[in-house]
Parts: sequence; structure tokens; C-alpha cells
Amino acid sequence: MKIRTRYAPSPTGKMHVGNLRSALYEFLIAKHAGGVFMLRIEDTDQERFVEGATEIIYSTLKQVGLEHDEGPDKDGGFGPYVQSERMKTGIYTKYAKELIDRGEAYYCFCDKARLDSLRTEVVEGKEITVYDKHCLSLSKEEVEANLAAGMPYVIRQNNPSQGTTTFHDELYGDITVENAELDDMILIKSDGYPTYNFANVVDDHTMGITHVVRGNEYLSSSPKYTRLYEAFGWESPKYVHLPLVTDENHKKLAKRSGHSSFEDLIGQGFLPEAVVNYIALLGWSPEDNREIFSLEELIREFDYHRISKSPAVFDMVKLRWMNGEYIKAMEFDAFYRMAEPYLKKALTKELDLKKIAAMVKTRIEVFPDIEGMVDFFQELPDYDIAMYTHKKMKTNAQSSLQVLTDLLPRLEAQEDYSNDGLYRTLSEYVEEKGVKNGYVMWPVRTAVSGRQTTPAGATEIMEVLGREESLKRIRRGIQLLQA
Ligand code: GLU
Repeated sequence: MKIRTRYAPSPTGKMHVGNLRSALYEFLIAKHAGGVFMLRIEDTDQERFVEGATEIIYSTLKQVGLEHDEGPDKDGGFGPYVQSERMKTGIYTKYAKELIDRGEAYYCFCDKARLDSLRTEVVEGKEITVYDKHCLSLSKEEVEANLAAGMPYVIRQNNPSQGTTTFHDELYGDITVENAELDDMILIKSDGYPTYNFANVVDDHTMGITHVVRGNEYLSSSPKYTRLYEAFGWESPKYVHLPLVTDENHKKLAKRSGHSSFEDLIGQGFLPEAVVNYIALLGWSPEDNREIFSLEELIREFDYHRISKSPAVFDMVKLRWMNGEYIKAMEFDAFYRMAEPYLKKALTKELDLKKIAAMVKTRIEVFPDIEGMVDFFQELPDYDIAMYTHKKMKTNAQSSLQVLTDLLPRLEAQEDYSNDGLYRTLSEYVEEKGVKNGYVMWPVRTAVSGRQTTPAGATEIMEVLGREESLKRIRRGIQLLQA
């Protein structure tokens, strides 16, 4: 049997991290088995539709390399691939009527006032109204008269009031519920559109889907889908419901976190490859503790049986670390193209930006880190002379003043301001004094950068600053230490 999976987003806005994870896992399950990964657009909820959201779906999938084999733009013989277009073919009403004929569904003409008067229960914080099957008792003649009179209606699933239904999930196992608890959910709405609940079953079956991966917010409705499969006599696909993605406080990762969507993350300077790699590990882990995976490697390693049932915490620290690893592994030219705008924003003076880029490449985690790391090249920041005191280097204000004063005439006399040339001068002094390297490098680096941490050593920084600016900064250091 050929594996066929589908990513079935609703075009309702940015792509949430949880949705991208579903897409990725669907893609990996299909590709791991040499199967087909399909894109289906679920746009039957007109109220939630957001202009431009379909384009976001396409561009996101493209950026992360999740290329679909079938979809609205790639016919594989199972189309249409957009639910509103499928609706026009009459597929949903056809199947809903088939259920009515089998006694598994019925027309419901109840108006809002009547529905509002139904008993509501609060289940897990949500208000649930269980429909009381009022319209199930209408005779065939009554139904036909109502339809002929043009009365608005919905079509509801007719669930049994006795017995139990068992739904099987690949991770959660068997979930058995009392049929009496199953609401007669709406299959076709009064506007003629199918509900998600109905369309997902009809589409997954008619499009030959073998594996469904989705967020576990759908888990509680799933027994009702089992009932639909049974009513039709169809074989149900395998279901994999994914654990919730939460923030550090174990709350559902919400928009206001500022990093709940793929777009947010790209906007914050993350690389698409790193985001995909990180998202793959939000609930899944390989047998070893390996963490860095290319998409190709994920395809090879991915086994959905290893997905965890516990909520996956979105860990910004880890994502940043991972992004840093991807930046380190980048080719320099590609890195420079992406780093240049950030460098130019921080540095308007004429400086060797390529050299500075090489310094930060192994140190940043996201591109916006660059600015705060290099801005001292533009201008010496105000700094506290306490920075000259370093326990491990055995330096203090006094020793630093001595070092800088000794070195100033030598550096003034020096023409060669290459890193090597400068390093030689400083090393000679280190040797003469019989001190440790840091005893000299620390005060020099402090004077030329005004910073505790820098992306490079004293002489590399001086090479970039040039002779004049380096000397200026050393004189400034002396002046500060004398005061
Ligand atoms: N359209 C649904 C959503 O975006 C898809 C759920 C599913 O994969 O079945 O949440």
C-alpha cells in the first residue's frame, strides 16, 4: 500500500509552529516510505478566512523545503485540492445524503432560539451543547415539506444513544467513549458548506489518505469521525495526534509570545533550516541524542512511533543555540550576504566588513546579534575602568596603566598594523616583562574595545580599527586610568 499523507491547513493567518510541525511530520512519514505528500486547502470556514493566508502557506512550505507531490497547483488525480472547489462538485452533499439514506444522518430545522434553549454542559472549561435529536423524529413527509418551503436546515450525524465507540490513535492507543456522549454534530451547515468534521473524513477517504497527523485538539472529536467511517463502511486512516506545543510556562504557545509562527521566527533572524530542524524535535527524538539534522537526514531517521505524548515546550534558548550551529556551518559568502545589512546598520565608518563578519560568524546565534557585538568598532563606548581589573589575568588599573604607557611609544613607532605585526610587538613586550599573555592582552583589548567581551582578540581588533583609531583609543585608556 502506497503511503499518502496530507497537510490540510486552513488559510486563517500566519503559520503557527504547531501547524508547521504537523506539515513536517506528514511530509516525513510520506517521504520516509517513498509515499506521496499532499497539500489540501481547508477553506470551508468562511468566517475564519484571511486574505493572503493561502500565499503564506505556499511560501512557508517552499522556504522550508516541504515540497508537496500533489496539491492545488499539482494535480495528482485526486483533485480538486481546495475544499471550496470540492464543494462545488457536490461531493459533500452527495455523501451526506448517503448517510441520511442509511439512517446515519438527518435534516435538522431547529432555529437559533430553540438551540439556545438546549441544556449546556461545561466540559473541560468549554461549554458544550448536546443536541437533543429533536428533528430525528420528523417524518419523511414533514422533512420534505420543510425543504420544499425553503426552511433553513443543517444535516446532522445520527449517533447511537447506546453502546460505545472506540477510536484508535497510533500514539494514544484506543480511546473508548460512551455513544450517549457523542453530540450529533453538524455535517453540512445552513450555508451549504460542510463542517471541518465532515469534510476531513470525506476528503481523507476519497483522496486515499493513509496517515493523518494533526494537533491533539482534534483528539476528543475523533470518535465521531470513527462513527462516520463506520457508517460509510470505509477503512479509517491511521491517526497520529501530536502533543501540544507550549511556552516556558506550559501554556499553549500563543500569538502574544511573539514567536508562535514561522513568520515571527524568520523575522527574528532565524534560518528556515534551523527552524525546521528545531520543530522536528518538538515532540520527536531519534534513538541517539543527535540534534542537528538536515531535511534529508530527517527523512531517513524519522519514525513516527517515537513521537512523545507529553507536551513539547518551545525552548527559545535551544532554538537560538541550534540556529548558531547552522550559522557556523554556513559558507562564508552566503553568510556574508545575510550579515551585511546588519553590519551596515551598525557600522557607517569605512571598515573591513568582511573581516568583522568572519569574527562574528562563530559567535552569533541569530543575525540581529551582530549589531550589539560590533558597534564598538564604530565608536569607543563609555566604559568603566573597573573593567581593567581581571582576577584570572592578574590585572588591575595600575598594572594596566603601566602596560598601556609602555606600549604606546612602540605602537606609535609601528607602521605595520596587521594582526601578525601587532601580535609580534605585544608578544615581545610579554617576553621582556616575563608575564602571562593575558596580563598584556587584557588591558589592550579593553582599551581598544571598551568591552568585556569582543568577537576577536586585541590585535585583530586593532588591525580592523587601523593605526590612528587604535592609538587614539589607547591614549584614551591611559587618560582614563590616570584620572
Ligand atoms: N484545517 C485543519 C487545521 O488547520 C486541519 C486539521 C487536520 O489536519 O485534519 O487545523
